[in-house]
Amino acid sequence: MARFTDKAVIITGAASGLGLESAVRIGSEGANLVLVDLKEDALEAAKALVLETAPDAKILTVAADVSDEAQVQKYVDATVNEFGKIDGFFNNAGIEGRQNLTEDFGAEEFSKVLSVNLNGVFYGMAAVLKVMREQGYGSILNCASVGGIRGVGNQSGYSASKHGVVGLTRNSAVEYGQYGITINAIAPGAIMTAMVEASLKQMDPENWEEAGLQFVSVNPFKRFGKPEEVASVVAFFLSGEAPFVNGTVLPIDGGQSAKY
Ligand code: NAD
Repeated sequence: MARFTDKAVIITGAASGLGLESAVRIGSEGANLVLVDLKEDALEAAKALVLETAPDAKILTVAADVSDEAQVQKYVDATVNEFGKIDGFFNNAGIEGRQNLTEDFGAEEFSKVLSVNLNGVFYGMAAVLKVMREQGYGSILNCASVGGIRGVGNQSGYSASKHGVVGLTRNSAVEYGQYGITINAIAPGAIMTAMVEASLKQMDPENWEEAGLQFVSVNPFKRFGKPEEVASVVAFFLSGEAPFVNGTVLPIDGGQSAKY
């Protein structure tokens, strides 16, 4: 039997990158999915892609902005109405923000990045945990970043928000283990997605591919990670195969964060 048969999994930021690849992977392992992202048309495209490998999956799409608490409650309620439970939650949606020195970062940009990356993750956890505590089971996986365990530079908002996600993960993991719920985070390094392409274009708009090669030259693998190399780890955390792994933050970065 597939690991996710009869399980209901919510994925935010599901229309692109790591969220989309995780939807494909978890869908292919039998899950019913709730795909959440900003725009309905992008969600429809994501749903069509998942159905290519998982034609029998039941897939609900919910257009919602994760930085708005009422919209977060909307996708959680929609999940419970449709599937009656939440087995897994990949709390993944995030943005990078404009790169800048701290003094030039700007209060507005700082607050925008935090509202999506940190408030959005908190609202998601709070609403999903209420359901999972009543059920007495469930797995939450928050998407942090190596920027949540190390300094990156020029990313005050991103780094602060991702360090915050690590803190939220550890705090709630301590609270909810007693209810049979695991809460962990992943800390991806540079994985080639739309976000990373846009990030490289911020660094060097003309020669962003060259900038990318330079960026990964210090990685032990000397390459970018692939979204499927994250999706397989997401599937593991949410599959129920790690019931005593709680409060961890797992780098997925080819070992780069272990390097001095
Ligand atoms: P991506 O840009 O390809 O996908 C992010 C998705 O989130 C998009 O579909 C976007 O529409 C959605 N989104 C953005 N703001 C939203 C909001 N307010 N409400 C709902 N959806 C929203 O990026 P990605 O690389 O797949 O990033 C996914 C997560 O992984 C992010 O949290 C990011 O910080 C994290 N991450 C990525 C990398 C990487 O190298 N790609 C590294 C570390 C962490």
